[in-house]
Amino acid sequence: MTAIHFWKSCLGSDSVLQPLWDCMRLNYTDYLRSPLFPVVLTVSSYFVFSFPFLICDIVGDKWAWVQQFKIQPSHRPTASKLLHCAGITLYNHVFFVLPASVAQWAWRPPVDLPDQAPSLLELIIGVVSNLLLFDFQYFIWHLLHHRIRWLYVTFHAIHHKYSAPFALATQCLGGWELVTVGCWTTLNPMILRCHLLTTWVFMVLHVYVSIEDHCGYDFPWSTSRLIPLGIYGGPSKHDVHHQKPNTNFAPHFSHWDKIFGTHADFSFCTAMK
Ligand SMILES: [Zn+2]
Ligand SMILES: [Zn+2]
Repeated sequence: MTAIHFWKSCLGSDSVLQPLWDCMRLNYTDYLRSPLFPVVLTVSSYFVFSFPFLICDIVGDKWAWVQQFKIQPSHRPTASKLLHCAGITLYNHVFFVLPASVAQWAWRPPVDLPDQAPSLLELIIGVVSNLLLFDFQYFIWHLLHHRIRWLYVTFHAIHHKYSAPFALATQCLGGWELVTVGCWTTLNPMILRCHLLTTWVFMVLHVYVSIEDHCGYDFPWSTSRLIPLGIYGGPSKHDVHHQKPNTNFAPHFSHWDKIFGTHADFSFCTAMK
């Protein structure tokens, strides 16, 4: 790609994403228009992204290179913990995700696919805006569900069953939390008037970073290491939340916890032991 083509794609006059978008919308029209497509996309992304971390957990000590990145090496998930989370995930999918999917399929008309792809810049700004909006919404929700005892016990305590998180614990959630998170990830791209391609990229990325938050490993390619200046929390920050539940309420970025004085890094956690 030439420099001129790159800047044109960023500015929107000749999107570099147009060939991809044309290929998708012309060859898979019925699938992409279906109200079920975002559900299938996010559910399948969840299992695809969880799988490598699950393998790391199952192989455990026999894979020393991977285990050097384990955030809490003395707390590896046992088979019973993995099965418990798999059971809750299955329960949530059968009793919440499936009915929500059927309702969408029954009541929501198929979406129209626009001819134009978003520019690269529009896509990046849209995805980052969605992550920032979700981060703010979940920070408030999360803070309230820790500060108000009834909310914590009734809805959020189930997610804190494990103080050393692992990938399958990502969806160790109560139904209310799952529905709330699902509503925000569905409605926010509409509120921000995002292109469908931007919406789907956000949804897939959001599933990935949610799993990464809980994976229990701080790999060299962790988002918190790729994004400089401590802007992004990543797995070690959310791991601290599971160890010290009155810290690190924001799911993605660090700024809200720093503003509200609830930020704690991993060194704080090890020093408290
Ligand atoms: Zn968590
Ligand atoms: Zn929490």
